[in-house]
Amino acid sequence: MIIIDGSFGEGGGQILRTSLALSLVTGKFFRIENIRSGRKKPGLMRQHLTCVHAAANIGKARVKGDYIGSESLFFEPTMIRSGSYNFSVGTAGSTTLVLQSILPALLIADGKSEIVLEGGTHNPFAPPFDFLEKVFLPIIKKMGAEVKVTLDRPGFYPAGGGKISVTIKPVKKLDRIDIVDRGRICARFAKAVVANLPLSICKKELDTVCKKLKWDRLCTKAEEAQNSRGPGNIITLEVASENVTELFTGFGQKNVRAEYVAQEAIDQARRYIAAEVPVGRYLADQIMIPMAMAGGGRFRTLPLTGHSMTNVEVIKEFVDIDVAVTKISKDVYEVEIKQS
Ligand code: AMP
Repeated sequence: MIIIDGSFGEGGGQILRTSLALSLVTGKFFRIENIRSGRKKPGLMRQHLTCVHAAANIGKARVKGDYIGSESLFFEPTMIRSGSYNFSVGTAGSTTLVLQSILPALLIADGKSEIVLEGGTHNPFAPPFDFLEKVFLPIIKKMGAEVKVTLDRPGFYPAGGGKISVTIKPVKKLDRIDIVDRGRICARFAKAVVANLPLSICKKELDTVCKKLKWDRLCTKAEEAQNSRGPGNIITLEVASENVTELFTGFGQKNVRAEYVAQEAIDQARRYIAAEVPVGRYLADQIMIPMAMAGGGRFRTLPLTGHSMTNVEVIKEFVDIDVAVTKISKDVYEVEIKQS
């Protein structure tokens, strides 16, 4: 049995999600202790419990310790069952993070899957729906599996109530890809969205982007989300290059000025554009799992985050890989994943 220390490194929910995902992929069982001990409210929260139950359903797993607040969990999958599933977080907890724990296994399952996920779709500290659609899934497509996602209803923190539908056409084995060269930047697009809030917020955010990044007005769009349960605001900056698309997000919050929300995304986009790397900081930790499943891969990115460093160690517990990280220059690092 694999024993995972949930307090290791970054000490967050990703250690649990990576363990669930790779336990399903490899069939190896594990116990995790000190779940999320690096967080203010440690243990399993509603979103993490939904990850556990979703993974248990798909993997017909034997589970112990699956309750709110639990700091220890045992998980033993028996088989992967593709098919139709509906998982609801029950709070504004992130649907895209629930998908992180089940998608890897379904990418190489023996049949098609249709998943409906309910909860948050645009949460701080999680990939927003747009990131999944525009950044992560196109890479998965290059690796051979086809995943389509639809935003049926947006769900912002704290009201939640969002819904996404996911269709997965699996492959036998993911193909290896290398993402070393970004290529020329071919398009830039800024989108500001409000739900049950004044559209003037979007205008302020987009004005800030055009002024600070010198982007053309024609590459911007202000949008009012129609059927959101609660209020919400988000700005996304999409940078499409020849070989990869990246997306940077600012999340609106009560009592935070629109200009600051835009600035959060601008700072990330600026650094990424200047470093001339293909892979941003969030994508880096997320593509490590599919690359490990493909038996290897190589990419250039910004300095690795705590999330990425932690993810490497968790992945190594389940899959026999070596990961070499080489500093190319101040803001450019190369990551090579190889079978050991
Ligand atoms: P954790 O904090 O351990 O729950 O993990 C958060 C996960 O969400 C990581 O995989 C991050 O890469 C991802 N993430 C957080 N913020 C963003 C963002 N703005 N865009 C894309 N992915 C994100």
